[in-house]
Amino acid sequence: MEKEETKDIITTFPIGVRSNQSKLGLFMVPILADFLRRRNDSELRVIINTLDSYRNRDEFVLPYTTQLSRFGISSEEVLIDKDNKSELMRTVERLAKKGYLTEQTRDKYLCSCGKLEMLADINLNPSARFYSIDGRIPHCNLCNSDAKRIKNMPVLVMTYPQDVNNGLVIPSHQEKEAVRLYQDIPEHDFLVSRSRDTGITFEGDLFKYNLDVDFLWMNYLSILGKERSLFVVGSNHVLWHLCLMNALYQCSQDRQTAKKSTLITPSYVIEKSDNIRGFINGGYENEDPNLSRILVLSSISLNSKNSFWNEGILKYSRRRLLELNRGYDSNSDLDNSISKSIKYLKRDNMERALKEGKMVGETHDIRGWLI
Ligand SMILES: [Zn+2]
Repeated sequence: MEKEETKDIITTFPIGVRSNQSKLGLFMVPILADFLRRRNDSELRVIINTLDSYRNRDEFVLPYTTQLSRFGISSEEVLIDKDNKSELMRTVERLAKKGYLTEQTRDKYLCSCGKLEMLADINLNPSARFYSIDGRIPHCNLCNSDAKRIKNMPVLVMTYPQDVNNGLVIPSHQEKEAVRLYQDIPEHDFLVSRSRDTGITFEGDLFKYNLDVDFLWMNYLSILGKERSLFVVGSNHVLWHLCLMNALYQCSQDRQTAKKSTLITPSYVIEKSDNIRGFINGGYENEDPNLSRILVLSSISLNSKNSFWNEGILKYSRRRLLELNRGYDSNSDLDNSISKSIKYLKRDNMERALKEGKMVGETHDIRGWLI
């Protein structure tokens, strides 16, 4: 028998490619994951999300992966969810076998465009974007119609066990929020079948169902390697999805032996200043890819929820790159040099964090190290 590969896997929240020219922000998580992989001798899996029941996104994959390879991430390290549909379906079947995914008869709300579809007896979310609540009936903002209550419909429902709380979160200040989300997950029934044709069919014992596509791809952690430790990188704006994906992963594995996954949730980087817009909207494609790598890693913060694309950091990154290319830097290895620059990221802490599962937080003001 071949020796089982035991390197840790660092993976990304699935990247939804939506155009032929992606903003630099869409490369933020892969660049960080790649950096951590290099520092920790792990394997990298960048996940691209093309499973979408509304629109075909296949044409956007090649421009994105071409750019990824400029950033040093090879095609062997990229996994497209659509190419792994059958394996994802096997995971869903496993969830059904284990009793987490069940066929039920429930009342549900459905609007005329079909985008708003939910169990009728769950708490409505007042801050939801695509529907609003006027009175008791949810109103779809997309087709501008009140949803109709449909009684006794056969549906697929996903439920989670109470002790689904698992795994660490880096940075530690996100931990409290993650624990709250993990506690919240088992309190809900999740509708995962759809009335409209999603292109994905699940055969239950009683009926055939159209499976929610988002539910399908959110199972991707289970196809990455059961014997490995997983580190999942995604901005803290998707913390809820990361927790849900981890919960799904735990449910699909043997819960006694399943390895826990650690969530790494850096800041969400916001476009604020006009002066840098041209660069991050596409200008980066015409410049040295290492400039983007330095800029991305220098713009990410582990200390706050949001950080900003900043012209000062771009200037700093240019200067840093110039020094590297001229060999002024005593260390010629680019990765080492980059990591030396990233005080904001606290490389040593991150490394220790990945090894020991603990993050030692410290605040750094980035202006302090602009020359
Ligand atoms: Zn609608």
